[in-house]
Amino acid sequence: MTRYIFITGGVVSSLGKGLLSASLGALLQARGYSVRLRKLDPYLNVDPGTMSPYQHGEVYVTDDGAETDLDLGHYERFTGVSSRQSDNITSGRIYQQIISKERRGDYLGGTVQVIPHVTDAIKEFALAEQDGIDFMLCEIGGTAGDIEAAPFMEAIRQLSIDLGRGRSIFVHLTLVPYLAAAGELKTKPTQHSVRDLRSIGIQPDILVCRSEHPIPDSERRKMSLYCNVSETAVIPALDASSIYSVPVSYHKEGLDVEVLKAFGLAHSQEPNLARWLDIMDRIENPEGDVTIAVVGKYTGLQDAYKSLNEAIIHGGIANRVKVNIEWMESEVFEQEDAIAKLEKVDAILVPGGFGKRGTEGKIAAAKFAREHKVPYFGICLGMQMATVEAARNMAGIKNAGSSEFEAHQNPVVGLITEWIRDDGSVETRTADTDLGGTMRLGAYDAVLKDKSKVSDIYGAMHISERHRHRYEVNIGYVEQLEKAGVVFSGMSPNGELPEIIELPDHPWFIGVQFHPELKSKPFEPHPLFASFIKAAVTHSRLV
Ligand code: GLN
Repeated sequence: MTRYIFITGGVVSSLGKGLLSASLGALLQARGYSVRLRKLDPYLNVDPGTMSPYQHGEVYVTDDGAETDLDLGHYERFTGVSSRQSDNITSGRIYQQIISKERRGDYLGGTVQVIPHVTDAIKEFALAEQDGIDFMLCEIGGTAGDIEAAPFMEAIRQLSIDLGRGRSIFVHLTLVPYLAAAGELKTKPTQHSVRDLRSIGIQPDILVCRSEHPIPDSERRKMSLYCNVSETAVIPALDASSIYSVPVSYHKEGLDVEVLKAFGLAHSQEPNLARWLDIMDRIENPEGDVTIAVVGKYTGLQDAYKSLNEAIIHGGIANRVKVNIEWMESEVFEQEDAIAKLEKVDAILVPGGFGKRGTEGKIAAAKFAREHKVPYFGICLGMQMATVEAARNMAGIKNAGSSEFEAHQNPVVGLITEWIRDDGSVETRTADTDLGGTMRLGAYDAVLKDKSKVSDIYGAMHISERHRHRYEVNIGYVEQLEKAGVVFSGMSPNGELPEIIELPDHPWFIGVQFHPELKSKPFEPHPLFASFIKAAVTHSRLV
């Protein structure tokens, strides 16, 4: 029997609902339960794939090729459970399905309405693919009271009735602000938010209260009284120094016990938090530190590189070092004298990205790393630009470039219009295909070269990694590049798409066409990130 936990947010956005959901999932796992986490997003985009990282942060890609909300990344990192397409829904996708059904005539004779058609579709999504797991955690995006969230709130209210007594609970996350002038924490916004929920028939079972100051018992009592929840179910959530200490903090505040109590389940045993305590110990007691330059395009908003940021931290956890990340705008390196900024760092990472702006700066950063033997990690666009740099400066291919930006005499990186999936099916695209959901998306296999650096790092010859790109290193240039010293150490199984490049006479220079950061976890750092940070440590000791 799958039990449902609905997680909503109130008062303001950005309180860390995703982190709360992920941490609760981890705590239930630590008690031996199986979990799955889902995100229900009220916005009208079909998926976040076409949104700018500045609007919505990173687009998180699943194995099955869905472009999803970045909260799904938190879920995977905290629970190790791979997310699927069926774990993220938006109003846009629901309306798209309903409207195409209506056009087909599926509702012939009927009026199509928010209740029941939209709410039924939301319920169907939440109930799908339960796979016998113990707990399904459903996070509702947005804030209680939002106009667009209303059908979702109504759907989860209905769902709790449909599921029957004891099968679901509601957890509501709010803010308890501190008024410095009055020297007081204020509970009124929480009271109002819960009143909003109750007016639509949802009574939270547990209140989680974000606060910058400890919440005194008197205020806890007040919220309990006015919000109609038991006093022990008012859980304070103070700011944490690292997101990886959040599961343990929530446990100390009694969150997991309250959840089990609300379901009438046994809760006397302690959860096994060993893996989280080890991670916290490694973060809090590093044996050194290194500085990594991330040369990118959306460096003003760290959420744009959420998984990357975390994977770098995991690389630090693996090596017991603190990693300082210097976010650098790649455009800066288009000025000749700026490159000196890279002299102070222990390693350089050029992440994925889209569009021409800043790409010459990324090429300059790759050149600097290659010539100065600084560890270099190129991911997706960062791999493509390192290949262009090698083509221009190692293989002497004049005017080498990517056809993503303009027509090139030598499109070393070009648009790919056909490729074969691991199951043998063929995906085709044309230059004017829709932009939404049409990239090479999701998990694809790669075959590694024997005795290459990457086969050593992975300890395997066959890997599967997640992709999100439209362009590829052009197979037609591989021979010339190989002659110049570039090793193509990972290829698609049919040998046609370059997946990994490396430079053998460099301490650590690797470019990958895929996004390894999406699969890294604090308790299972991705081998490429662990190895890259290790190379940075070695480099820092050399200079
Ligand atoms: N813009 C490049 C492409 O579409 C790289 C994409 C990426 O870095 N994710 O191929």
